[in-house]
Amino acid sequence: MSTFQIDFGERRKTRVVGIDLGTTNSLIAHMDLTHPTIVEDAQGRKIVPSIVSLDESGGLVAGETAREMLITHPEQTVYSVKRLMGRGLADVRDELKLFPFRVDENSESLIRLKLGERTFTAPEISAAVLRQLKENAEIALGEQVTQAVITVPAYFNDAQRQATKDAGRLAGLEVLRLVNEPTAASLAYGLDKRKDGVIAVYDLGGGTFDISILRLHDGIFEVLATNGDTHLGGDDIDNLLLKVALEDITTEWSDDLSTDSEGVQRLRRAVIKAKEELSYVARATIELHYKSKSYQRVLDRVVFDRLIGPIIERTLEPCRASLKDAGMMPEQIDEVVMVGGSTRIPLVRAAVERLFKSKPHTELNPDEVVALGAAVQAGILAGDVEDKLLLDVTPLSLGIETMGGVVSKLIHRNSTIPASATESFTTAVDGQRNVLIHVLQGERELVKDNRSLARFDLKDIDPLPAGLARIEVRFLIDANGILQVAARDARTGKEHSVEVKPSYGLTDDQVEAMIRESFDKAEQDMRERQVREARVDADHILAATEKAKRNPAWRELSAEECAAVDNAIRDIQNIYHSGDHDLIRQKIEALNQVTMKLAETMMNTAVRGALRGTKID
Ligand code: ADP
Ligand code: MG
Repeated sequence: MSTFQIDFGERRKTRVVGIDLGTTNSLIAHMDLTHPTIVEDAQGRKIVPSIVSLDESGGLVAGETAREMLITHPEQTVYSVKRLMGRGLADVRDELKLFPFRVDENSESLIRLKLGERTFTAPEISAAVLRQLKENAEIALGEQVTQAVITVPAYFNDAQRQATKDAGRLAGLEVLRLVNEPTAASLAYGLDKRKDGVIAVYDLGGGTFDISILRLHDGIFEVLATNGDTHLGGDDIDNLLLKVALEDITTEWSDDLSTDSEGVQRLRRAVIKAKEELSYVARATIELHYKSKSYQRVLDRVVFDRLIGPIIERTLEPCRASLKDAGMMPEQIDEVVMVGGSTRIPLVRAAVERLFKSKPHTELNPDEVVALGAAVQAGILAGDVEDKLLLDVTPLSLGIETMGGVVSKLIHRNSTIPASATESFTTAVDGQRNVLIHVLQGERELVKDNRSLARFDLKDIDPLPAGLARIEVRFLIDANGILQVAARDARTGKEHSVEVKPSYGLTDDQVEAMIRESFDKAEQDMRERQVREARVDADHILAATEKAKRNPAWRELSAEECAAVDNAIRDIQNIYHSGDHDLIRQKIEALNQVTMKLAETMMNTAVRGALRGTKID
């Protein structure tokens, strides 16, 4: 026998996988030549339950193994951990009432979950699920997997996104990009080829319901609105059926099964099985054989639909609200995409079709579509898929300089592009005619610690007293990552704008370093910001007082009153450079107190003047 060396041509340099890290279930997919494909484990299963358990050896296991342990060892098993990602103990008090999370109350801000004798953070638990997915992929593909795209709900904030990235890192995966779940689902359907249009993504999973309205513009997705219910999904249907079956069993067996946790878990499995069958057939049986007793109940679709009707109805209100937020009528939605295992239910499909007045996309498996889309995005990043625009996020925050050398952020780090933001600012000096717009990039609080991108003047604005002018600053990042900054005097409409390339010249390492630095220096930055802001306020009150002293009202004060004001002014000047913002604020307050009478007198003079019809300054 002889062997041949087979030449595969140029080998692919990297393999990037796509992961749907779900609340109930997770999946991993890859690009197989031109098609996204879900990875199957050795038993041919695609879905990995997002359940994690502590095994005898003290290690974490995830997926099917952990799902079994939910029955046998519930005290060392957790699920739905996605609900806790990137959140503090105070944020999730309500969540803890609804979910049987066992939390270590002694840990300060970071949530630690108890599994048996040990405690873990949410990213550590999620990492166990990711590790299982990674392992499945490595076995199926016969190669190491180190880079991934992971999907997150569109409404996830920065902390939740960061926690997801951390989970990836803990699992040995470099997370090249986080993609919004509705965007991934749209990509799986190739809707980006439409170029333009409005897409509604209806996602009814195990424990959560999300509706997102996306606008597709030049092949780029923009989230117009999101809404939903964080406690609505297949679990509610399961609980309803479970209640019905438990009542049946109590009568039939004259024995209360509800106090037997293993019995309840087994019955839960049986009702889920029947529920899932009912999506395809008109009749299914809930069946339990437990402790030498048997229970059977036939459920037909008509009865099932009547039972779950109110649950499905609860998804429609968030849909209407999101349409309203996006400023859209149902007729303006071009495509509706169905996501989540529970959208297999025919009643759900019918309800969605009725609301949006168009037939939803159901050609792909609704529980696979997010992972498939993640694989498409992964393929784009690995260079396997051409001809598609990258969806991108801003690596660093963008903002402008405001009084005191402080940065006011307009677009935050990790915003998906295209992105835009508008904010109003005002002038600091009476009669000011020019405003300097200084555009900055970075995470730190002070101008000097950020990167300066551009400066320009908005000239010839209407001269007005300080604080009255309204300057609208608008940031717009287009699909290519080009930042356009425009400043407009709201009174005159006079406008000036510049174009900047925000990330030009910054390597990934530099971006990483800047983000790290912002965490390390956060406290110090905050203190300095407070000092600067206090000084800005001090400047304002000092200038206002000097101006008031030239007012005729000043001469109506007694000698002691005048001295008190002068002393208070001197006090501020003395501690102005102390670096103690509390002290500066104290002295400002003191000056405020002693100038009260002066302000009152000025006000009375003004009113008298106005009544006399004379113009006053
Ligand atoms: P998530 O995104 O929340 O992690 P999935 O999208 O995987 O979850 O949805 C899981 C839910 O879908 C579960 O409640 C499961 O019972 C339900 N489900 C799966 N298949 C079907 C089916 N054929 N009919 C009805 N519900 C189903
Ligand atoms: Mg999901």
